[in-house]
This record gives sequence, C-alpha cells and structure tokens, in this order.
Amino acid sequence: MTEKTILQVTNLKKYFPVQQGVFKKIVGYIKAIDGIDFTMEEGETVGLVGESGCGKTTTGRSIIRLHPVTDGQIIFRIDGQMRNVHQLFKPEVKKFRQEMQMIFQNPFSSLDPRMSIRNILLEPLITHKIGNRQEQLAAVEELIVKVRLRTSHLDRYPHELSGGQRQRVGIARSLALKPKFIICDEPVSALDVSVQAQVLNLLSSLQQELKLTYLLITHDLSVVEYMSDRIMVMYSGKIVEVAKSDALYQQPKHPYTEALLAAVPRHKYNPSVKRVVLEGNMPDAFNLPRGCNFYSRCRYAQDICQQTEPVLTTISDKRNHSVACHLADELNLQGYVD
Ligand code: SF4
Repeated sequence: MTEKTILQVTNLKKYFPVQQGVFKKIVGYIKAIDGIDFTMEEGETVGLVGESGCGKTTTGRSIIRLHPVTDGQIIFRIDGQMRNVHQLFKPEVKKFRQEMQMIFQNPFSSLDPRMSIRNILLEPLITHKIGNRQEQLAAVEELIVKVRLRTSHLDRYPHELSGGQRQRVGIARSLALKPKFIICDEPVSALDVSVQAQVLNLLSSLQQELKLTYLLITHDLSVVEYMSDRIMVMYSGKIVEVAKSDALYQQPKHPYTEALLAAVPRHKYNPSVKRVVLEGNMPDAFNLPRGCNFYSRCRYAQDICQQTEPVLTTISDKRNHSVACHLADELNLQGYVD
C-alpha cells in the first residue's frame, strides 16, 4: 500500500448459498468471487474484464456495499483514513456513499421513468442535504452541462432521451455528490456502437477534470483498451492475469486473455498463427474442478493443470504483470496486432 492507495481488496470471497427442499437446507455454495486481491491508486483506471458470470459485477457490487461479503476485506480511503467498507459506523456510511458511486449498465432501468431529469439529479443532493434549494438547482444545471447535455434536457423524462443521453444522465447523477471513485459497470454495453466512443471519451475527460478513479467493469476488451492503466482479467471467480494495458494487449500470458483478445472485433492475427477460438462454458461455480478452472477450455492444458491450482504470480514488477498459469513462462501467446 502507498500513500496514493485508494482501494485495497484482500482475499475477497462472495459465496451465494444454494438451498433445497421445504426447509431450505443449504446444500452448497456458488463461488461468485473466490479469493481475489488487488489495490488501486488515486487517479487510476483499472479495467476488470471477463465473460458474463465470471464474478466481475459481483466484485463491483461488493466493493460498493450492495452485497455483504463472505470473507476478506475491502479497504477504502475515506477522509484520508483507510477504512473497511463493510465495518463502517453510520456517519461513515454517509461519507462513503458520497465518495464512491456506481454507473450502471442499463441507463433506462436505472433511471426512474416517472421523474424528470431535474428531479433525478436533485435526488442525491436532497437525500444528502447538500446546499439549500437554490444551490441544489444551480448544481443540477452545472451537472447536466458537465456531461455535455443542454439545460433544456432537465425538463425531459428518461423515455424522451436517447440511450446515450440517458447514460450521460446516469453519469451526471453519479457525479452529484462529488465522488472520487466511480465503479463503471458495463457503462457502454447497452449503447449503439456509434455512441459508445462518445460516452467513453466523456468518462475520460471527466476523469481528467475531476481527478476521478475508475474501476471499469466490462466483458469487452476493446472498451478498456484506451482508458485503462491496468487491466485485471477475471475467470470463474478469480483474477487470472493483471498487467499494464500495453503489456496485456501485446504479450498476454494467460490462455484465457489470449482468447478474449481474439474476440476483439478489429483484432488482426499473424496469419501464420492458428486462430484462437474459445469453446465451451465456464465451469459450474457450484462445483468447481480441482486444479485450473480454465482446464476444460484451454488448448494448452497439461496434466499438472488438472491436478494443481495455479496461483497468481508476479512475472514482471516493471509491467505490474502477474498471471495464474502453470505454463506462463513457456507459452508464446498471441497478443493484439494493430
Ligand atoms: Fe491452461 Fe494449464 Fe494455464 Fe490453466 S494452468 S490456463 S489449463 S495452461
């Protein structure tokens, strides 16, 4: 941990009980997050990527206290103090809610259709008793302009806006309390490709202007490519690779990362190398296999992979590169060819 560390996640686990029968007996657990560790520094953007169901959204929701955790610690800097977010006193919870916000995937379902945009943006200010009425109204006008919409949009309702405009309102609402840390959960996946870049550019410029820290959750590596300083790849509840963005794109060390890169639409392959196709599904989180969770889909798997679970190990301090694969040193995986 350094003086710039804003978030430290240690051995985070989130298991959902599986119940059966009339008496709802717990017969096992779905391991949505199974012991992950990472830290984030102020001003950083860290991408958290993986397929649907890998545990990335549960990770975001656990960090922002939407889920209680099964085990582990989430330490966040609140008023200069590193505090466990799941052990806060009531006044600290209020402060925590101001400092950490979330942008949701679907801007339509996350905005109340009965409220005008003005009232949607006023709501957090009223709930947190920030300023008098006049100051709140002025703050709302400032927010809407910040997300590159016009003040006339304040009198409209969510259904009168396009998907991109609604997501801008979602971003404006997340900024209302002047947070320093925002979890962006698939912020553009519900949007047309043509507006995705505009929203990502907006997030980027707001980060510069307001010195924000982002945890950017997505299934799509092309979304995090230009925004992220570092990328964490998650598979079946575990982080399997972490690296600075350029290292991860150019020299992936985990076969799953290689397969995700192959799914980036404008990815060009060296024609002499065989195309990577990711087949099958993630293992059942209720009944995880012994050894490497990626074994059943990995084209490089060997016997050791089925016997022993690989541990996330640092392979380069300079590039902040860690990987959980027994063959990381031996494989020559395909990176992104621009
Ligand atoms: Fe594939 Fe083995 Fe590496 Fe797992 S440990 S990703 S099965 S090579």
